[in-house]
Amino acid sequence: MPDIKSYQMLIGGRWVDAESGETFVTVNPATQEPLARVPKAGDADVDKAVKAARKAFPAWKALTQAQRNEYMYRIAAAIRENAKELATCEALEHGTPYNDAFGVCMGAAGKFEYAANIALALMGIQIPMEAGQLSYFKRGPLGVAALVIPWNFPIIMLAVKASAALAVGNTCVIKPPSVNSMTDLVFARVIQSAGLPDGVVNVITGSGETTGMSLCSHPDVDVIGFTGSSETGQNVLRYAAATVKKCVMELGGNNPVLVYPDADLDALVGVLGFRQFNNCGQHCSGPGRYYVHEKVYDAFLRKLAAFADSIQVGDPLAEGTFMGPVVSKAQQRKIEDYVVGAVAEGARVYYTREKTPEQEKGSYVMPTIVSDCTHDMRIAREEVFGPVAVVIKWKDGDDLIGMANDSEYGLCAHVWTKNLQLALQLADELNVGNVFINCQTLTEEQSWGTNVKASGLGREGGVEGLKEFTDLKEITVDYKAF
Ligand code: NAD
Repeated sequence: MPDIKSYQMLIGGRWVDAESGETFVTVNPATQEPLARVPKAGDADVDKAVKAARKAFPAWKALTQAQRNEYMYRIAAAIRENAKELATCEALEHGTPYNDAFGVCMGAAGKFEYAANIALALMGIQIPMEAGQLSYFKRGPLGVAALVIPWNFPIIMLAVKASAALAVGNTCVIKPPSVNSMTDLVFARVIQSAGLPDGVVNVITGSGETTGMSLCSHPDVDVIGFTGSSETGQNVLRYAAATVKKCVMELGGNNPVLVYPDADLDALVGVLGFRQFNNCGQHCSGPGRYYVHEKVYDAFLRKLAAFADSIQVGDPLAEGTFMGPVVSKAQQRKIEDYVVGAVAEGARVYYTREKTPEQEKGSYVMPTIVSDCTHDMRIAREEVFGPVAVVIKWKDGDDLIGMANDSEYGLCAHVWTKNLQLALQLADELNVGNVFINCQTLTEEQSWGTNVKASGLGREGGVEGLKEFTDLKEITVDYKAF
């Protein structure tokens, strides 16, 4: 095996190996070559990390908001200063094109500043009582937060969770996605360089089934912030049930796109074509299945294919690359199997392209459009999570809203029509957390994602996302008695 760099975990302010000495290796998805050696945390390491976070909690909680915010702003500055290194890590280990990854780092810095600013405004509430009595709610942190990060955005997802948990006074133990462990360990080094007190942030690496399970089952964890698949989320909820932990769960999705005959197809393809193929379609809120009216079906396919054809697929570190590889060989096979299965069920590959021999070695999936799908096909019912557009034709008289809602998931939905009355009526009827009408803007810090059905519990982002990491304690006093 070529010489690769080794990394350590952050526990209680110290950089350490796993107690067992065990390690595992992460891989560059573009080449399948080994990239980094990282520790494999066992139960003993998880326990040490949780204990370190618990020990650090009272002092971190006791800081004034202004004092905590000093750290938050320093973290943001450190991220900006180290953005080139962080972006290179994400490009190498996740396959994100470098420029996109650099933009992600700027976004990650903004999360810490936003959380600090919002935390200043999160106050308690006083409720009116009869004379001589006082009753108020005091908002405070929950304690030790276990933050489990998915691989689709290893930097920004860590930033969203850690900024919210820390700003309001929790300490945390972070479990990165195993395939992107190096990226998040480097990110942890950057965060720690802001001079955080020991134990406020701890990062342990390992597989989900061992390290992740051990962390989410730990009796001294107070809240779990988890993003990942619905299946894993169900397991996490089971572990959490034993000690009744609060869980904020961002899970899978299969988001319907409702395209009406009056839709502005150029605008639609510009917005959702980008979402479909950027980050290889590994977006929880991206388009999952397009229902396109028969009058515009052919035109939509032609325009989306022209968009797909314009995409530069290649080395994430090369200038101009729009799409790199998907995160792993396993994920590549899973996505390509969906396409093979759809064709066997009667769908048609409307657009794809050949891979170069270099791309064959890596975990590349070519931009693909699968047309002639039906609502019942597996590719339309499950979460593909790749650069594959799944297109279904609908006609007047079809129960479009029924099909859109007929899913175990409820993350978000997209509506494209110029009929405002119809669009707003659909927004009411769609059983999802977020509805995007003729747009998809996720750039505002104030927005949050709401998850319904198997897509999760609670909210992430914005002011609501911060509140998830707090509790409101009610205190009532009859002061006539004094
Ligand atoms: P995953 O469920 O495989 O893993 C998520 C994380 O959980 C990883 O850190 C993994 O190591 C850990 N894990 C795995 N098994 C575990 C276990 N038994 N106990 C504890 N932790 C465990 O998900 P993924 O494949 O990394 O991420 C992609 C998924 O995330 C997709 O389904 C996507 O829709 C979802 N996602 C959802 C949102 C949202 O906002 N709802 C955002 C991003 C991603």
